[in-house]
Amino acid sequence: MENEFRENEDVDLLDIEGDDLEETVQVCPVCGSIDLYYEAGGVEGMYHCKHCGYIGSFIIEANEEMARLIREEYENKERNTAL
Ligand SMILES: [Zn+2]
Repeated sequence: MENEFRENEDVDLLDIEGDDLEETVQVCPVCGSIDLYYEAGGVEGMYHCKHCGYIGSFIIEANEEMARLIREEYENKERNTAL
């Protein structure tokens, strides 16, 4: 007697939670803005930040939480040095 018809196979592979797949964005290291544009020029090119005027080849790969923290810190600094 062969009765190998199994409908309930263990399909644990579909149980993906995606915790490790954090999405990152490139943000300005000064103000945390994502409003950057890349300008090719010279050998490496530079990133320009439309928000604070930062120009440089260094930018931060940040997840949303990090970007928010940088923005908050920048805004606090702006407030403290505004006068
Ligand atoms: Zn900036």
